[in-house]
Amino acid sequence: MLRFDELSFWEKSSYFEKTDFLIIGSGIVGMSTALYLRKQYNDARIVIIERGYLPTGASSKNAGFTCFGSPTELYDDLKNIDEQTVWDTFSNRYSGLKSLFELVDEKTFHYEPCKSWDLIETGVKNDINQEFIEYINTKSHEITGFSNIYTEDLEVSKKFGFEQIQTSYCNKLEGAINTGKLVQALHKEVIQNNIQILYGIEALSMDNASKTVHIETEYGTLQTQNCIIATNGFAKQWINEDILPARAQVLVTNPIKDLKVKGTFHFEKGYYYFRNVGDRVLLGGGRNIDVAGETTEKFGTTEKIQNKLQDLLNHIILPNQAWSIDYSWSGIMGVGQTKSPIVKMLNNNTAIGVRLGGMGVALGAQVGKKLASYF
Ligand SMILES: Cc1cc2nc3c(=O)[nH]c(=O)nc-3n(C[C@H](O)[C@H](O)[C@H](O)COP(=O)(O)OP(=O)(O)OC[C@H]3O[C@@H](n4cnc5c(N)ncnc54)[C@H](O)[C@@H]3O)c2cc1C
Repeated sequence: MLRFDELSFWEKSSYFEKTDFLIIGSGIVGMSTALYLRKQYNDARIVIIERGYLPTGASSKNAGFTCFGSPTELYDDLKNIDEQTVWDTFSNRYSGLKSLFELVDEKTFHYEPCKSWDLIETGVKNDINQEFIEYINTKSHEITGFSNIYTEDLEVSKKFGFEQIQTSYCNKLEGAINTGKLVQALHKEVIQNNIQILYGIEALSMDNASKTVHIETEYGTLQTQNCIIATNGFAKQWINEDILPARAQVLVTNPIKDLKVKGTFHFEKGYYYFRNVGDRVLLGGGRNIDVAGETTEKFGTTEKIQNKLQDLLNHIILPNQAWSIDYSWSGIMGVGQTKSPIVKMLNNNTAIGVRLGGMGVALGAQVGKKLASYF
């Protein structure tokens, strides 16, 4: 192991000295923050450190929904959170997507405006009525300028081959991206903007009490004028606030001939979500059946949740069809009692942007923009 103090003059002066902004975490938030900082500071030295050889949290592991609010999710939120906060979050997610599209060309990450459907299972009490749809259409029109975003779609099972679904609500503005391509596109943009990403360096502790911030790593100390913490589900070590790691599991099937599933789908108030990826089905969720077990920073899949996901494929999503599982994985999100992210200055040289829940594709760039605006 080569420590920083053993590096050459060339290495020290090119990579580690006179850092203006050091960002911890190379997910959507870390990379967006760096790009917005570059727009403000043409000549600044901006460095991102990432503990993994790839981003190792949620940004390269998510389902790729560009979602900002399904009717059952909004209904649930309005029951538990005050109305203003619910619509502020909706608005931030919607404008967050616009910020993302401003940072990277949507073609590079295969954005598809494929719509979403919120599915209501047969035999389950449906809380959504026409009056509620009219209310969310009015509110969402005020925010987006688009009318009638939400409509009931009774034909969903016929169109996509589902079983045990009584009805659905379509959101015509939601879509999907290729998650891997988004992370690659942001990475490319970061490099082109002369921002350094150093993989395999974990921030262990920080002293930000004086003018220069000192960050301890296993290779030695890094110094920077300003620091931004973008570690999401792994933020507990940096702030004593309401944030917990939340593991989320996903699977992807084999390619399925004549697959009818096309688009993005939310099921059981968003506890489950699925979409097609070409001719495969990606399905995730199920944290609600083992909340304690899934409140962890450890990656991994469990039989309990994978079995539940497979059960949904069998009975609802791909009934009477042969399929197998080609991939399964997990990612770690940051969640709290409330759905709003924590975005703030910790003192005059350190900012933090974390707790993006299951909304980071939509919210991430917006959080990055706000973090950069503090400096
Ligand atoms: C399975 C799954 C499905 C999801 N589906 C969707 C979806 O469809 N739509 C949507 O909007 N959102 C979705 N999300 C949520 C979304 O992915 C996240 O909200 C978003 O990626 C958060 O981005 P981030 O940059 O804040 O965090 P992350 O991507 O987690 O990045 C944090 C980075 O910090 C690094 N790090 C942590 N600690 C340190 C340290 N001490 N030193 C150095 N580096 C460190 C980590 O390795 C990680 O790379 C999903 C999440 C998961 C897990």
